[in-house]
Amino acid sequence: MVICQSCGMDIEMDKDKGTNTDGTLSSEYCLYCFKEGSFTNNLTIDQYVEIGLDYSPEYKAATSEKEKVQIKEQAKAYLATLKRWKKAN
Ligand SMILES: [Zn+2]
Repeated sequence: MVICQSCGMDIEMDKDKGTNTDGTLSSEYCLYCFKEGSFTNNLTIDQYVEIGLDYSPEYKAATSEKEKVQIKEQAKAYLATLKRWKKAN
């Protein structure tokens, strides 16, 4: 299983892979993050966290602000381990 090194999404199939400058498939990034050798956006890690939370059932089900903050911190800690964000720390 490959995980996108930018957004953390599972890349299950070749059609979900991004592309390199030479048109070959990226082995590290998904098609939403990486196209023709460069990132498709200049989002920050915090913006990625926010986007991820929009799709998180866990976050939506959180009942307290404390719980939400915890989920957010976990999401950020996870993204921070990915290649795109490692050097940003
Ligand atoms: Zn991605």
